[in-house]
Amino acid sequence: MLAHRSPPALRRTLVLRSSLRIVHSEIGVKSWTESLPSCASVRPAQCPACEAGSRPAGGSLVLVGHGLRVRTIEGPVAPGEPPVLTEVTGRRYACRACEAIVVVVPRGVARAHRYSLPAIAAALAWWAYERVKAATVRQRTSTAKTVGASSATRWASLYRWTRCALGLFGIELPDRATIRESAARVAAFVASHAPLATGAVPADAFHGAAFCRPR
Ligand SMILES: [Zn+2]
Repeated sequence: MLAHRSPPALRRTLVLRSSLRIVHSEIGVKSWTESLPSCASVRPAQCPACEAGSRPAGGSLVLVGHGLRVRTIEGPVAPGEPPVLTEVTGRRYACRACEAIVVVVPRGVARAHRYSLPAIAAALAWWAYERVKAATVRQRTSTAKTVGASSATRWASLYRWTRCALGLFGIELPDRATIRESAARVAAFVASHAPLATGAVPADAFHGAAFCRPR
């Protein structure tokens, strides 16, 4: 039976990977990338895994700085602007209480998605709410210049993002609806979170995306 057990180093990697937590800072992508916040300024108040306070009074730090993690996010920086690649440096922390690794990223950076949350929200709004063709939505969202024949009319990302709406934006999909109807619902929901609503759903969805609460 021993032969089936993973070696300690591998087990440790698996534990650490499963306990990687993403925390969104209140700071937006633009300010964050202009000037990387200090380790102390964006240290979470508590560990998101074990809920231990990160700076207990009179004690030593529990969430300690653990380097940086660079990610590339894709999409327009503002609605109507051409899509670009933006390098975002996340701050990593290690929890001394439970060994979780915590990565703090600016508001608007999605967990496990290449595109920014605002880019995803605007794309869903254009496609499902304003009935813009998928190929056009892709041109406005993606920096990739070559589009395969199969994806010229159907962009799989739009379907995937709609199905991930709960984890991305915190909205449950309606039971009986087409994927495009669901996407329209997601777009309207995200647009309702825009701090300054303009009435234009794609722009409002873009600005509201970072203010939703993913589940
Ligand atoms: Zn912890």
